[in-house]
Amino acid sequence: MTAPLDIERIRADFPILQTRLHANRVEGGVPLAFLDNAASTQHPRQVIQTIVRVFEHDYANVHRGIHSLSERSTELYEAAREQARAFINAADGTEIIFTRGTTEGINLVARSWGDSHLHPGDEILLTEMEHHSNLVPWHQLAARTGAIVRFVPITVDGQLVVDALDSLLTERTKIVALTHVSNVLGTINPVEAIIEKAHSHGAIVVIDAAQSVPHLVTDVQAMHCDFLAFSGHKMLGPTGIGVLYGRRELLETMPPFFGGGGMIRRVGLGGYEPGDLPAKFEAGTPPIVEAIALGTAIDYLQRLGLEAIHAHEVALGQLAYDRLSAIQGVRLLGPGPRRKSGIISFTLDGVHSHDVAQVLDHHGVAVRAGHHCTMPLHKRLGIAASVRASFYLYNTPEEIEQFAGAVNRVKHLFARKH
Ligand code: PLP
Repeated sequence: MTAPLDIERIRADFPILQTRLHANRVEGGVPLAFLDNAASTQHPRQVIQTIVRVFEHDYANVHRGIHSLSERSTELYEAAREQARAFINAADGTEIIFTRGTTEGINLVARSWGDSHLHPGDEILLTEMEHHSNLVPWHQLAARTGAIVRFVPITVDGQLVVDALDSLLTERTKIVALTHVSNVLGTINPVEAIIEKAHSHGAIVVIDAAQSVPHLVTDVQAMHCDFLAFSGHKMLGPTGIGVLYGRRELLETMPPFFGGGGMIRRVGLGGYEPGDLPAKFEAGTPPIVEAIALGTAIDYLQRLGLEAIHAHEVALGQLAYDRLSAIQGVRLLGPGPRRKSGIISFTLDGVHSHDVAQVLDHHGVAVRAGHHCTMPLHKRLGIAASVRASFYLYNTPEEIEQFAGAVNRVKHLFARKH
């Protein structure tokens, strides 16, 4: 058993959570209930202070200057790589490539590994619940190489039909790419079992971990994945920084994605020779301060413990599920709260999702409305849009009550209008 989170203490670390919104003309405003964490999370003072401290005391370009500041910033940048390595239990720091985020990591694999391994008629296997970032790069790869994209179907309650893999996986399948946690349904996919099946057919597996690494203990060695990508801004870190994990044997044989400074061993007028890992995949000046601040975010999450964070989110999800399912006209998407992460998406009969989100905003509740970059998933569910509330370590049961109360008011407001 892990100790529960001390939410009051945690909230004191996040200056923005003290915000009061004045949208509802309530005297003194309404407290902000920030429930849009699957889009991007807020930052604790520790992360903000790292950014300020590095700019004030430690900043210079990395891996270049033979001067003290450059040595200091390089040391901090490489220490952040080591923190990221330990966080996902990669075997070696050379397997950690700093990127701008999940999207860039997936594009890197599609371009570098995909372009050099796929041929006409080869197959790329995705699922019906993927984010556009784990769809479009594969559509583009298929268009470049003549490969075919196939999909693992989902059930009506938003779970993968894992048995379908037995017929979908063939010797033509070269890549299986899927999300660990759905950014809409919250479904936690059984990635280990899928990876095992994919490997038995000789396919490599790319895990979109944008919604899992911030919330669940991740061990890439136990998982046996080949690639795994995530974003710093969804786990208390800044934007513009992410990580692509890749198995060393694969990364070593892959051509660079971007070309430029920092990724070469030598360059001549006739060509170039790429540098060693991980520099080979980090062309140009990297997001130095962002990487160091991601290290602080990782440290913050590790001190609280991912098990405790997940348990807290599941409890909030259960409460939200209980409250919302009691409101007539609410249709909840995805599996029940015990089988998913802290994401709850729904539609409200007769009310457009954007209208729901707008009224919720007037009650201080920040949620996301729309297709959440999953148009095929929404089509599969027979809807154009949904409302999504997503929880993190600083959210409280009171905020869930504020959210559910506001959804109730939306319902009554629109019932009067119709
Ligand atoms: N994959 C999933 C499941 C996501 O939820 C997101 C972001 O919403 C992404 C990929 C893309 O992440 P980023 O925009 O940080 O590259």
